[in-house]
Amino acid sequence: MGIDQKIHSMSLEEKAALLSGKDFWSTQELHNHDIPSIFLSDGPHGLRRQEVGGDHLGLNASLPATCFPTSATLANSWNKELAQTIGEHLGREAVAQKISVILGPGINIKRNPLCGRNFEYFSEDPHLAGKMGAALIKGIQKHPVAACAKHFTANNQELRRMVMDSVVDERALREIYLRPFKYAVQEGKVKTVMSSYNLVNGTYANENPFLLRQVLRQEWGFDGVVVTDWGGNNDRVKALEAGNDLEMPTTNKETSDEIVHAVNNGTLDEEYVDAAVKRLLTLIDSTHHETMDQPENDFDKEVHHAMAQKAAEESIVLLKNERAILPLNKDERVAVIGDFANTPRYQGAGSSIVNPTRLDSPLSLIESYTEAYVGYAKGFKRYGKSSKKLQKEAINLARQADTVLLYIGLDEFSEAEGIDRSSMAIPANQIELIQALKDNTDANLVGILSCGSVIELPFEENFDAILHQYLSGQAGAQAHLNTVYGHVNPSGKLAETYPMTYEDVPSSAYFPGEEKTAEYRESLYVGYRYYDTVNKKVRYPFGFGLSYTTFSYHDLKVDDEKVSFTVENTGDRDGSEIAQVYVTLEKGKVFRPSKELKGFEKVHLKPKEKKTLTIPLGTDTFTHYDVNHARYEIESGEYKIMVGASSRDIRLSGTVSIKGTMSTAPYDASKLPSYYKGDVKHISDDEFETLLGKPLPPSGLDFYKKNRIKVDSNTPISDLKYSKRFIGRWVHHGIVFIIAFLKKIGKRETANTLIMGVYHQPLRGISRMSGGMISWGQLESIIAMFNGHFFKGLARFLKEGRKKRKRNKYLKEKWGYEDE
Ligand code: BGC
Repeated sequence: MGIDQKIHSMSLEEKAALLSGKDFWSTQELHNHDIPSIFLSDGPHGLRRQEVGGDHLGLNASLPATCFPTSATLANSWNKELAQTIGEHLGREAVAQKISVILGPGINIKRNPLCGRNFEYFSEDPHLAGKMGAALIKGIQKHPVAACAKHFTANNQELRRMVMDSVVDERALREIYLRPFKYAVQEGKVKTVMSSYNLVNGTYANENPFLLRQVLRQEWGFDGVVVTDWGGNNDRVKALEAGNDLEMPTTNKETSDEIVHAVNNGTLDEEYVDAAVKRLLTLIDSTHHETMDQPENDFDKEVHHAMAQKAAEESIVLLKNERAILPLNKDERVAVIGDFANTPRYQGAGSSIVNPTRLDSPLSLIESYTEAYVGYAKGFKRYGKSSKKLQKEAINLARQADTVLLYIGLDEFSEAEGIDRSSMAIPANQIELIQALKDNTDANLVGILSCGSVIELPFEENFDAILHQYLSGQAGAQAHLNTVYGHVNPSGKLAETYPMTYEDVPSSAYFPGEEKTAEYRESLYVGYRYYDTVNKKVRYPFGFGLSYTTFSYHDLKVDDEKVSFTVENTGDRDGSEIAQVYVTLEKGKVFRPSKELKGFEKVHLKPKEKKTLTIPLGTDTFTHYDVNHARYEIESGEYKIMVGASSRDIRLSGTVSIKGTMSTAPYDASKLPSYYKGDVKHISDDEFETLLGKPLPPSGLDFYKKNRIKVDSNTPISDLKYSKRFIGRWVHHGIVFIIAFLKKIGKRETANTLIMGVYHQPLRGISRMSGGMISWGQLESIIAMFNGHFFKGLARFLKEGRKKRKRNKYLKEKWGYEDE
């Protein structure tokens, strides 16, 4: 029977039931219609298939899977073929583990270095993020497995992530934040998209008709499934109407009832239900298949480990190499210092966490690389406490060595889903150690950095060499030691800028949004788009990375469709170069950054070898989004085409004359002076409102009197401190106390989990994330208690409890299960 016929033969109740999960990870099956359930699983750089105890925070154990480098790392490879191959490996593992949908890649823009999930995202640049994401998706979907581009969209901070409204002008929204998703859809042909938790310009992303219906489906032609982020459903009926198909996880059929009810009372057209069911059944058809009967873990773990290693090797960035002290010889006396050498940092925390099939530490491998290993010292306490004793031991050891490999970076709790970082610094005890080693020893200092997002490097001068391995996955140890000892020539380049200090970051004054709104006042000027436009000094520019060899560029040719030039390896080692193409129009009528990446290619060359590269200029190369005409336009002019080894190392440049489509300029330049200069760090309300084309929405909470708010289902637990009745305030204080206590006794992981999963959770989560344990009616009665109707609320809570038990009996008979 075809899908349409099947839908025709189903009751409304059955169709609505399909549109939310059966449990935490699987979709609802319908045996009478021969519709199987499919399994969805994180994640972006390795699978997290949980067998028992579902959670979206990475708490319960998952089946072993290969932990590949995180996206922030893989992005530094700038290698689309590699990303596609990693995707193929992920897809292979998904088939072996009977997973139909891999919940990744995450292709959000790294708007600000402090976003807690930056390690999961590719880049500050939409072109790079989109192309790498699309390649990974293609690889995954070579198997009968769907990828899921997430989190759609403008989801760039973790603080209050489920209630935050991202206020962003439409041009920046389209040219920066939506563009990676466009590539995921049009080039990657991604089969599913995950809507983000936040609101975008006043409407939840998951129920936003502009984003889901107009842009995603109508403009880009997406015909796959839109799934909520876990627990990210606010109004089920509105979401369905806007273009969401599947709600996850289960709500014990409560929201299916809402759909049925809305159709029956005429507020929702059944066509929306049918369309969503059709898309879901199409997805099920293409991802539920015979091969899913293979034994679990039927993939070659060693082959996959080797692939993880290759990916890490291509992604390591050599940031500094004074006097060419790297690579090391095997007879140089080497000391290994730093806790991360023993317990590596190789992935971040939260829903992306992978239970690796194998994990090597640098310490366990170092002796296979050198004949002159002098020993290991821990050097510092991982979580920031200062220790003179550890410092002294490290100095004594370093005095016996020619070179120290010093492992520094961020600990696992500093890079976590649900929690933004509070500063760009690494812990002071590490900085003290670097200084102490510099002051008290003569050894060369080689810094090996581990972290998935940008940090400040005030200690940069103390190092002779710095190798940034980012979060390099389970095979990172071999990968970077191979680089240190010259078996691999580093070829990664930064997919994000390293500013001198956090204050230099264009969004630093606006990040994070703290109450209701996150204002994206910097507009297009994210990362190098800002630093390069205003010529701000940076520590390391976007696209920067050294090699053990050198490259020269020549023979530039440009036209309106492509750029070609020759790259030559001028050194004496094999090596790979990443050539980058940037474009701008100087002195145009439309404001724009001084450089925007529009193409790139990685090329491998033997010594003295040269190759001519031809990089196509895609349809987005010369366009800007014109908000007045609500379409893309091209401004006529002589566009500057720059080819470089980084955004600050332009080797060749030329121009191409482009005939435009623009009749009138979309902006009055006199009203947007900061945007025309790119000087966006202190944008006034007036100027931002002019850019937005509407007044700014209120950013503060709605207090009806001093420190009191009306609590509703979207009030996060953190705001219960403002609730009318003591009971809400006690709940809040109780949780704060527990978090503080857990931190005090060293249980940082549990404390973080509470912050992630409870403290910032809106109250609706109590019902939506409990799989039916607390019904919506019960939640409403709890809210009534918080709002001052304690006894009324309590009485209703008990009544709703009885209702729920009766309903569960019915559900058990109808669907064969009940709430846990
Ligand atoms: C995350 C998603 C993830 C989902 C399921 C959410 O909290 O934001 O990225 O895929 O949980 O674990």
